[in-house]
Amino acid sequence: ATPTALLVGTGRGAQLGILIKGPEVLESTRRVDTVLLDKTGTVTTGRMTLLDVTGDPDTLRLAAAVEAASEHPIAQAIVRAAADPQPTLTGVPVAQTGGGALPAVTGFGNVAGLGVRGTVEGREVTVGRGALLSEYAMPDDLARAKAEAEAAGRTAVLAAWDGEVRGVLAVADVVKPTSREAVAALRRLGLTPVLLTGDNETVARAVAAEVGIDEVIAEVLPAGKVDAVKRLQADGKVVAMVGDGVNDAAALAQADLGLAMGTGTDAAIEASDLTLVRGDLTVAADAIRLSRRTLRIIR
Ligand code: ADP
Ligand code: MG
Repeated sequence: ATPTALLVGTGRGAQLGILIKGPEVLESTRRVDTVLLDKTGTVTTGRMTLLDVTGDPDTLRLAAAVEAASEHPIAQAIVRAAADPQPTLTGVPVAQTGGGALPAVTGFGNVAGLGVRGTVEGREVTVGRGALLSEYAMPDDLARAKAEAEAAGRTAVLAAWDGEVRGVLAVADVVKPTSREAVAALRRLGLTPVLLTGDNETVARAVAAEVGIDEVIAEVLPAGKVDAVKRLQADGKVVAMVGDGVNDAAALAQADLGLAMGTGTDAAIEASDLTLVRGDLTVAADAIRLSRRTLRIIR
């Protein structure tokens, strides 16, 4: 009877929009007590919007030129705003952007989970989070703009060239409408939710509060996501991880149960045990409930 019950479980999973790699996967869900939730693209939509630019008038044009070669949601938001002849940005004269063609980039480099680099119009431009730009001088007014953006729950992206941070670009995305309900459903299953992100602590706290999560692990590098899973496992936790990005793949593989958003990258889907086809976090709770029920039938 055992194999039949398992197959019923996976069949019901397909109806709910859950793809299960193999029947043996269900076993790992039984003792899961902690669930790590990636922020961008998992708890939030991942569709970023550029809201504000402060600093050198060339900031948006040069940043967009370098970001044009990146597929990161932040990069897409910056490129989209630069292409818009009338972007609704505060703090930036429309003349700065113009929506014209972007200058060419040479020597493009992507530093996963940190940002991008490239040479534009003879200047070596770096765009990304603070950790990537630690060797650049930071003028007081831009440090203030960064702090203000983060206090407002936005991600502050810095643009630097010629030895100095020259501009701050504030981007934001929104929490998915179902995320709060999903976190509550995971709690009802006895799981402790933890928000895991490469983004800064202030933004992470703001998003966590919005969806009802108390624990936050922020400002982690892609390799740090795997370490976060390992640390919890070393503490005796049985860990589920839900993610969508290339940066999440190693952590999804390390987790006792890896769940990928079907809307996410192939790398995340391949590394995971379960795929949530519609990218809806409430289905993560359905998946865990279903497999527990399926196992009860077997035993
Ligand atoms: P998350 O863990 O929330 O999915 P990522 O690991 O993809 O986020 O990125 C972590 C942080 O690194 C971002 O919040 C951003 O500050 C910075 N970053 C990563 N890629 C880029 C990029 N292409 N341009 C600017 N900033 C970037
Ligand atoms: Mg993500």
